[in-house]
Amino acid sequence: MNTEFLFADRQFTLIRYPEKHQHVSLQAWDSADELLIEHIETSLSEGAITTSTAPKMMIFNDDFGVLGCWFAHVEPLWVSDSYIAYRSLLENLTANQLTPTTKDNAITAPVQTLTSVDSLSFTPASDVDIVVIKIPRTLALLEQQLIDIQRYITPDTYVVAAGKVKTITKSVLGLFEKYIGKTTTSLAKKKSRLVFATRDNAKTHAKSPYPTRWQAKGTTSQTLTLDNLANVFSRQSLDIGARIMLEHMTVSANDVIVDLGCGNGVLGVNALALAPEAKVIFVDESYMALESARLNVLNNFPDKIDQCEFVASNCLEALLERSQRPAVTKILCNPPFHQQNAITDHIAWQMFTDSRDLLVKSGHLVVVGNRHLDYHIKLKKLFGGAKVLASDKKFVILGTAKR
Ligand code: SAM
Repeated sequence: MNTEFLFADRQFTLIRYPEKHQHVSLQAWDSADELLIEHIETSLSEGAITTSTAPKMMIFNDDFGVLGCWFAHVEPLWVSDSYIAYRSLLENLTANQLTPTTKDNAITAPVQTLTSVDSLSFTPASDVDIVVIKIPRTLALLEQQLIDIQRYITPDTYVVAAGKVKTITKSVLGLFEKYIGKTTTSLAKKKSRLVFATRDNAKTHAKSPYPTRWQAKGTTSQTLTLDNLANVFSRQSLDIGARIMLEHMTVSANDVIVDLGCGNGVLGVNALALAPEAKVIFVDESYMALESARLNVLNNFPDKIDQCEFVASNCLEALLERSQRPAVTKILCNPPFHQQNAITDHIAWQMFTDSRDLLVKSGHLVVVGNRHLDYHIKLKKLFGGAKVLASDKKFVILGTAKR
């Protein structure tokens, strides 16, 4: 992995977390980060952005902490939906002697981190001078964030966003126009572009259309009511893989279940419908996913909330790192197969490896996936084999036990 970020006259060593699992061709920053840094530095030094004291800055969706490290000297507020982005920032601040302090899984200095869920109710002490946004992949997340920032910005706030040219679509620009005001873009440079928006005070504070709510039939034919915050996987309807899992899921009363990569928590909530005594640990790297899962336990089985845990983690590492690991008997997993825009199976591999390490002896891992993903090959390597529990033309559910 290329880790030396050299720009203007400053140098940082930057990794993508977790460093050991990264492909050598990957790096922690992209041309949109470079464009943002160059533009903001030039605008500050040439007086195009004017602030009386050190600028009050908010940074959204910094993928691996490059923006947080670069602007650490202005002590920005840093908002992300991703636990992996948060851990990358933490590692990168440390590696570059920016000595982060932490409290309750948040960085308190020199950057102050907020999760995407904290930001929904956050109101800063004073207006923000500069808002920096890396355009996220999910349009709904951008929409939620633009609605959120309406509370902090004035026509004097400098709102600048950046992304790869292909991500700056008409719909993206339409959201800036709708929620902020007049919007312009820069010319493309190294395949990225900047977006500038000026707050129009005539726009009243919009009501968020999220969470999106819909219903699904669980295994017991009980109707499950599911809330989905803006950045949740398959926000608008039940995923086809999840649907097949629901049709074939079995759990028993004394199971300790992990819903791994829980999204809105549909699999874990369905497990509670089948076995109301079971304990369920919902795990995801997206804070909006975990919060949706929590809402969905409350929507469907409010009296079971104390049997449930909601854990931000990269795969299962947060549970594996505990001095007292939970005695997990069943892991349900519909693995992600995309990261950024690339199809990848390295997260599935780590999820399966972690599952083998966490499960008690004879504990089960149940995985659903598209047939072409060939998860059975991985499961054979790690567990010695896997059984087809159900399948249709596109999907297969595989079950395996720890020996
Ligand atoms: N379980 C839900 C369902 O069946 O509808 C969601 C499944 S979705 C295919 C995969 C989930 O894995 C997403 O919610 C995503 O945020 C999560 N995820 C992606 N990378 C992860 C990682 N490294 N660690 C934990 N969760 C991850």
